[in-house]
Amino acid sequence: RFITLEGGEGVGKSTLQMALAERLRGMGIDVVTTREPGGTPLAERIRELALRPPENDGWSSMSEALLMNAARSDHLDKLIRPALTNGKWVISDRFSDSTLVYQSVKGGVAKDILLKIEAAVIADTRPDLTLVLDAPKSATDARRTSRGAQTDAFEARPSTFHEAVRSAFQTLAQSDPARCRLIDAGQTAEQVAEGAWQEIKALLSAQRAS
Ligand code: C5P
Repeated sequence: RFITLEGGEGVGKSTLQMALAERLRGMGIDVVTTREPGGTPLAERIRELALRPPENDGWSSMSEALLMNAARSDHLDKLIRPALTNGKWVISDRFSDSTLVYQSVKGGVAKDILLKIEAAVIADTRPDLTLVLDAPKSATDARRTSRGAQTDAFEARPSTFHEAVRSAFQTLAQSDPARCRLIDAGQTAEQVAEGAWQEIKALLSAQRAS
């Protein structure tokens, strides 16, 4: 099974990822946790390149979209597909929905182009379940600040950017209700994990039934 966690910065994706992996492992399920952009040595190098260009330079949205997809292709080939083939569960902190959201919100790469690139890269390796963590920026400010200097560049973005990202994730989740579940990330970490766990349990029982 392939589960992806999506949402804006500081909504608690990595905390949820750890909680879900722990619960699944407690049931004897072999779980691989990973993240995007990144997840393999080469994709992590692309992450560095994509997210930290030199101060006086930057990527166009199209270049960024291609870098994200190059990283994803490596991640799929070397980590995600082999793990799924070996019967493991994979939980990824971000996947292709992040590219659809960020690269269109940031600079306006046309959605149909992003979808074509996505289709070529991910082919039939689509998530079984995508949990979209949703909260207003104000609810996640404290969490982002506590992550420290690493997030400075993100903090510098205006709140209109955060709201545009949030709204794009909401639209995306609503457009694919069979795969996506919107989770209120303004709750406590325990409540978020419990809500997410109910969705995973539904996935497990569907698996047993098939
Ligand atoms: O998951 P995390 O919050 O660490 O993501 C780091 C940053 O990478 C995000 O804040 C986002 O701005 C950026 N990103 C991006 N395009 C993607 C994925 C992430 O711009 N496809």
